[in-house]
Amino acid sequence: MSDTKTVIICGAGWAGMHAAQILQREGYKVKVLERENHPGGRVVTENLDGFLIDYGFQVINPSYAELKESRALAGIDFYKLPKAIDLRIGMETIRIGDPRQSLSYLKGALNRATGTIGEKLKFLRYLRRETEDVSFGQALYETGDFFENVLSPFLTGVFLSGPEEVSNRMARELIHWFIKGNPGVPAGGVGSVSQALSRNLDIEYGVEVTRIDSKSVETSNGNFEADYVIAALDPLSSAQILKLPLPKMNRSKSWYFKIAEDEIDSNVLKVGGIGPVINSLVISNIAPSYAPAGSALLVATTLGDGTEAEVRSHLSYLWEVAAENWTLLKCIDIPNSLPNHAPGKDLVVEDVLFNGVYVAGDWMATPSQQGALLSGRRAANAIIADQ
Ligand SMILES: Cc1cc2nc3c(=O)[nH]c(=O)nc-3n(C[C@H](O)[C@H](O)[C@H](O)COP(=O)(O)OP(=O)(O)OC[C@H]3O[C@@H](n4cnc5c(N)ncnc54)[C@H](O)[C@@H]3O)c2cc1C
Repeated sequence: MSDTKTVIICGAGWAGMHAAQILQREGYKVKVLERENHPGGRVVTENLDGFLIDYGFQVINPSYAELKESRALAGIDFYKLPKAIDLRIGMETIRIGDPRQSLSYLKGALNRATGTIGEKLKFLRYLRRETEDVSFGQALYETGDFFENVLSPFLTGVFLSGPEEVSNRMARELIHWFIKGNPGVPAGGVGSVSQALSRNLDIEYGVEVTRIDSKSVETSNGNFEADYVIAALDPLSSAQILKLPLPKMNRSKSWYFKIAEDEIDSNVLKVGGIGPVINSLVISNIAPSYAPAGSALLVATTLGDGTEAEVRSHLSYLWEVAAENWTLLKCIDIPNSLPNHAPGKDLVVEDVLFNGVYVAGDWMATPSQQGALLSGRRAANAIIADQ
């Protein structure tokens, strides 16, 4: 009789696939069950008449420790974003960024509209010292205009919720990755990294998991049995199936507009102003493969509020061009974009075993690709340690 241990992993998102890769390398026989007909969960890309439409605007940070470990970016053409944002305040656009990348960014840092020097120094002090886990907004209260005008508009687009609702400890962790890395997008869209993570895995697609136990899984395609089971579904599905408290999820909407190729030449993320848009970027100015020749692709994110007319009006203000006649290619409403990481929640959920089922997913760590991958590693390691 073979003594190879078997594992069923429910969900082919980044958490499930990373766990699968680790366990497979360790000699386990792994099967992944996935409801959709593709891998990636929240990290997928659709080709719409030559435009690459990611499932919500997201960037990939090659410095994420677990992403490096996975080697999923090997061989992928990757386009980095400038480490800067363009901030619209009144009728001004101020570029503020990491001066280690370009000294020209110092000009924006010295601009009074982005906060006083004292406030910026307070932010540097904040980065150096650990504080108790209050909300991110509360922790940065004393950085005044720098927080209000720069950090808050930018990071609302990262957390997909207001800074008052998220943990300062988690925010510091994600800011740390931003400082360390240089996020960008792959030539083939973010979904190409999901394809890479799925390589050599035994994934059964189109299978809806309905019940999970420590050694068996009920699905729309019958029952599966294994020595170990990992639940790596999205947070709400895992919580519902395992009868755990439902996590609060943040909503976002991504609006994809076709614009003329030479209409906007900026490749910098734009934030600011009053209106529903929390960030916007001409993503094909970063990776030209995102749009067919002769066109450009502009993406804008909202938290779900705002009519199309309000979004267009805010975009006209941000980009200083008329947005009324742009072609809206797609608007993707994602009610459950990210689990809200509330103050007091640890960076990783200590125990990954619930009633005999190993649990992975970004809600078990931080709401990010790194969090999802790390949670997958922790579930895999817990199984390996169980031998
Ligand atoms: C709009 C948006 C922007 C983001 N931006 C960033 C960013 O810039 N940087 C960053 O680091 N992170 C970002 N993220 C977060 C990141 O994408 C997620 O944290 C990560 O992809 C979560 O992976 P996961 O494996 O935990 O869950 P998921 O990706 O949700 O995977 C769960 C999988 O389980 C499957 N599933 C669910 N129910 C069932 C069932 N009953 N049966 C079978 N299969 C099922 C799903 O189809 C899915 O494939 C963003 C997310 C969104 C939505």
